[in-house]
Amino acid sequence: MAKIIQERNKCIGCGACVSVCPSMFEMSEDSKATLKNSKENSGNLELETADADCAKEAADVCPVKIIKIQK
Ligand code: SF4
Repeated sequence: MAKIIQERNKCIGCGACVSVCPSMFEMSEDSKATLKNSKENSGNLELETADADCAKEAADVCPVKIIKIQK
């Protein structure tokens, strides 16, 4: 299992994560991306998943590097 963390308050809404990983990220009405099915923790969004491959791609393309994968 891996934990995906999105520091959502720092998101600049570029949409890159949604382009490469639409199964896990979507754009929300406030023009920031949201990690789907996640829980809020200390201002971040977190999701435990067995398959983080797509999220890793999202982390790579995020220009402000606010998507983190913890093993
Ligand atoms: S790639 Fe990063 S900055 Fe761009 S929408 Fe996704 S989380 Fe926000």
